[in-house]
Amino acid sequence: MILIVDDNQNNLYSLQKLLESKDFKVETAGSGEEALGKALKNDYALIILDVQMPDMDGFEVAESLAGYSKTKDIPIIFLSAVNTDKKFITRGYASGAKDYVTKPVDPEILLLKVKTFYNLQEQNIAMKKTQQNLELEVKGRRESQVTMKSQIDHFHLMLESLPQIAFTLNEDGIVDFVNGKWYQYSETEKNFPESHLDDLNIREEFERCKRKGKALELEVRIKNRISHEYRYHLLRITPVYDEGRVKNWVGTFTDIDDQKKIEKEKDEFLSIASHELKTPLTSIKAYVQLLERKLKLDKESSEAGFVAKVQGQIEKLNALITDLLDVSKIENGKLKIDKKQVNLESVISNAIETIQQTHEERIVKIERQGMKPDILIPLDEIRIEQVLINFLTNAIKYSPHNNQVIITTFVDEEAEEVRVNVTDFGIGIPDFKQDAVFKKFYRVEESSLQFQGMGIGLFICSEIIKQHHGTVGVSSVLGEGSTFYFTLPLN
Ligand code: ADP
Repeated sequence: MILIVDDNQNNLYSLQKLLESKDFKVETAGSGEEALGKALKNDYALIILDVQMPDMDGFEVAESLAGYSKTKDIPIIFLSAVNTDKKFITRGYASGAKDYVTKPVDPEILLLKVKTFYNLQEQNIAMKKTQQNLELEVKGRRESQVTMKSQIDHFHLMLESLPQIAFTLNEDGIVDFVNGKWYQYSETEKNFPESHLDDLNIREEFERCKRKGKALELEVRIKNRISHEYRYHLLRITPVYDEGRVKNWVGTFTDIDDQKKIEKEKDEFLSIASHELKTPLTSIKAYVQLLERKLKLDKESSEAGFVAKVQGQIEKLNALITDLLDVSKIENGKLKIDKKQVNLESVISNAIETIQQTHEERIVKIERQGMKPDILIPLDEIRIEQVLINFLTNAIKYSPHNNQVIITTFVDEEAEEVRVNVTDFGIGIPDFKQDAVFKKFYRVEESSLQFQGMGIGLFICSEIIKQHHGTVGVSSVLGEGSTFYFTLPLN
């Protein structure tokens, strides 16, 4: 908006019309006092000010406007008929004018000047607004920096109070915070604690996970700087994502050395116990067979039935001890896999036959579906049959009200693997417990009382498949059934 100030109504009127014809918004004031009042109340982009006015002349108005912060930057064009003298013009500029136009006014020239000053002032205002916005943003950023810093401090304080070694790494994987416990195992913040030569290298393992943006979980022995003792720790480094990018990493080392020692003692005990049990059991088995042959009992007699029961129980005990021995072989890295080119379909048929012979008391329907893998695959026949028997035994055991089991096979030429599914329609496994069933001694609590077992069968299966470079897994719906599968590479 433009303010025109003149005590002459005719001048005011003609100037107003001239500017309005060019789409400028215009207000008028008939005196210096009125002009001051309006300028303080409204926002003007330009003031056209007549110099000769009674009471307060144009120069005085300009000097007063220069005294207020609201009005001091408004450009002023003086209009004067008389004071064309140089000293008047000088006074005009000194009192804050941007230009000086003498009457009679050349409308075209005046319009050009008005346009220029108007645009300049508009730009000025826009610039000021941008500056204000920028200042606001800077202030906002400063405030959020302060809040963030206090959040980080709080987070660091929390890490400091943890019983574990805790640390954070920036997005480039450089350690940027460690808690006090870190220094019991590492001299500087820069280096990870020294790991045992027989264990995996922490930095290398972390770099591998970093490339994939995945969390690292590793059991590793690290050296205490004071006692020089290597202690087992569980290392976890988890990525913190922000808008799809890894922002930083949070890590902990949890001391699991005591737990590891107990586990080792338990494994040693199991290994000794199962070995010690195996020898007398083999003798018992041999003597019972001898007895059976010597007694030449009538097959229908109750004595023959008792001997058969004893033999059945000996077989069960033998299977349990064999499983325990397998576990200790796995623990000691002594589970031997003897691979030969074998027809997988014949291994499956053998397993089905064995199951049907050993489950004579229950009618079990084992159905075969899918592409039959009538091909030679490098595998340990006995061990793969053991896995199949285990899956099938479980399928029957955990389906007390259903006797149907389906074995489905797929040969995936592209992935160069064969997959074997064993599906049952039994009790199923809760979602969050499905991964754990392959862990040593793990049994699903809800069903552990109803069904006998030690929770090591699937652990042995997964180790056997691992040694064949295959994969194992399960998908299951509680109350509807489960599908256990394994895959084997074709070559
Ligand atoms: P075990 O059967 O001797 O307990 P396993 O290692 O073979 O040990 O199985 C571990 C656990 O997994 C079992 O205790 C059971 O809770 C669960 N499980 C295994 N197979 C099935 C199945 N087919 N259906 C439901 N639960 C199963």
